[in-house]
Amino acid sequence: MTPNVCVVGAGIAGAGAAYALRERAAVTVFEADAIGGRMVSGTRDGCVYDYGANYVDPPDEQVEAQLQSVVGDDLAVTTDDVWIFDAEGTIEEGRPNQGRKLSGRNGIDEIVAAYLDASGATVHEQTPVAHLSRTDDGWRVTAGGEQRPFDALVVTPPTCEALFEDADWEADLREQLIAARERQSYRTIDSVALHYPFALDVPYYALVNTDKDHAVGWLSRDSCKPGHVPDGEEILIVQLSPAWSAGRPEATPEQAAEAAADHAATLLAEDRLAGPDWWDHDRFTRALPGDRVNPALVEYALPHDLGLAGDWLAGTGRTHAALETGLDAGRRLGKRL
Ligand SMILES: Cc1cc2nc3c(=O)[nH]c(=O)nc-3n(C[C@H](O)[C@H](O)[C@H](O)COP(=O)(O)OP(=O)(O)OC[C@H]3O[C@@H](n4cnc5c(N)ncnc54)[C@H](O)[C@@H]3O)c2cc1C
Repeated sequence: MTPNVCVVGAGIAGAGAAYALRERAAVTVFEADAIGGRMVSGTRDGCVYDYGANYVDPPDEQVEAQLQSVVGDDLAVTTDDVWIFDAEGTIEEGRPNQGRKLSGRNGIDEIVAAYLDASGATVHEQTPVAHLSRTDDGWRVTAGGEQRPFDALVVTPPTCEALFEDADWEADLREQLIAARERQSYRTIDSVALHYPFALDVPYYALVNTDKDHAVGWLSRDSCKPGHVPDGEEILIVQLSPAWSAGRPEATPEQAAEAAADHAATLLAEDRLAGPDWWDHDRFTRALPGDRVNPALVEYALPHDLGLAGDWLAGTGRTHAALETGLDAGRRLGKRL
């Protein structure tokens, strides 16, 4: 009989796990919110904008070839460069020979959706996993008001300690996982999309603050991504620095948007940027991991029919690293099933 596997979370790690299991198991993915996780996109007035992860930078040709074959013609490739700026707002050219930066023509979440489509998994959005129970031959998962048995489980969210705390599972590993996640730090980022009814004439795709001493950590132009912004318009993605965001836990979306627009106007020396005609905002309290957990946890989990994946395991806030943890978890579980 075909084994069945439950994947918790439809971010890129969960999608990678489902993809790696596509010929080995019937996969069901439960997602608390929407496909993409932190690879999240918005749409408005004919515009598309990525306001979580900005792009996937494939580390080698093999990963890029896989992304190309899974996502196909919907990949949106940006070749413009990232430049740098310091605390004083002085802008300089970035490093030479920067690689290709990948999103989807309809948003970066399209990449995650493509992996899930190719996996053949059944995906339930807006369906958080509420409870996990270890059984003699797998796991019982409660989601959407139903309990279902699975032969194996893959857990991906950076908030997974809450699931393990509540789980019916007598094992030392349960405590180890909770402790490892609780020790790990995550940075908070307020991300703001600012729309303007005019184009910007600058020679770069994005600016990154290198001395970590500016209120803006990252500023990029979604108009550089094919299919995202109509000609003659601009969407700036301004990510306020972790210090700005963590130091203002009570900041409202309006305050974050106003700060983002003011800083964009000053940094780019363009007064009109202080007055976007519309904006969007999200606060990511678990934006980027500050450190990694013990990678041996992956090995310890396998005998429990448990795969672990996500950027919390990779220890770096990079989409390709989260994808690799998912592919790896799927491959390892697939061999055991
Ligand atoms: C502002 C920002 C900018 C970034 N910029 C970049 C960038 O330019 N390039 C780059 O490579 N990376 C970037 N990153 C990092 C990148 O987004 C992450 O490393 C990557 O997307 C993590 O993927 P994941 O699958 O591990 O986690 P997630 O994407 O967080 O996926 C986990 C999923 O689990 C779901 N979930 C949680 N609890 C439950 C539950 N109980 N039941 C079911 N589902 C649940 C969540 O809703 C979520 O969808 C950025 C991140 C942020 C926030």
